[in-house]
Amino acid sequence: MTDQATTDIDAIVSSLPADWQVPARQYLAAYAAAATTEQRDSIRQDVVNATIAEGRSRGWCTEADRALTAAFGAPDTSCADCGVEVWFNSDGYDCRGHRQTVRDADGFDLDGRNVGGYDRDGFDRYGFNAEGFNRDGFDRNDRDREGFNLRGHNRDGYDRDGYDRSGYSREGYDREGYDRSGFNQEHTDRDGRSEFRFNLNGRDAEGFDREGRDRHGCDRDGFDSNGYDSDGYNRDGYDRHGHGRDGLDLAGLQRYRFDIDGYDSDGYGSSGYDRDGNRRADHEARGTKPRR
Ligand SMILES: [Zn+2]
Repeated sequence: MTDQATTDIDAIVSSLPADWQVPARQYLAAYAAAATTEQRDSIRQDVVNATIAEGRSRGWCTEADRALTAAFGAPDTSCADCGVEVWFNSDGYDCRGHRQTVRDADGFDLDGRNVGGYDRDGFDRYGFNAEGFNRDGFDRNDRDREGFNLRGHNRDGYDRDGYDRSGYSREGYDREGYDRSGFNQEHTDRDGRSEFRFNLNGRDAEGFDREGRDRHGCDRDGFDSNGYDSDGYNRDGYDRHGHGRDGLDLAGLQRYRFDIDGYDSDGYGSSGYDRDGNRRADHEARGTKPRR
């Protein structure tokens, strides 16, 4: 800000729109005549505020900035949208309505962001830091610094311990050290049997193949690939229809409780419906019983 700029009031005023020249001349005369620095600063702020307001409402912002600079010297403020040497009113807005970016001593604006757009913790408005990681340590592709995703797998599909989704290492061993065929690096299975115990037909001395199945497809416990033994019962003791060896299902109902027409003593068929197509729940709701 310089004082000598005010000496050419005529030149400044003549650069302004005609109907603003009179008040502008009065402002500048008052500024020039101010006795103290405080008065001068106060008048200057009034001039700036009034000129910006007039320029904004009449659409001569470029002229307003130019006149203020001519009167008071170039400002050290700039606008992110308009460029350098843009004047701001005491509310912090320029003639075109842009907010002045005020930064604190650490370089952060009113929104708490620095020139690069990062907040005090170093994260941008999308939540990522300069290295591209968010507060949880994941990048835009949900990978952490080591390349592991939210579920803990890297791009090759292995977790931090080196196991893939099915639990096998790159070398093909699970966490207990056994491969997909159930053998460890010493070529021994979980029961201590050697991997090299099979004859040319692929069966061991007990008649089991590499998958542990006998000639009938049953495992060492006698269950087939569907989980049923030779009598048709699974490990829980139920057959394919859900009946145990005693003929009762989980609800305690007899497997052989149906008459020649397919209905039990209560009048319900195996599908749960009676002769008339009603379910047990229908009857219970109505307080009725199936027709016999
Ligand atoms: Zn602007």
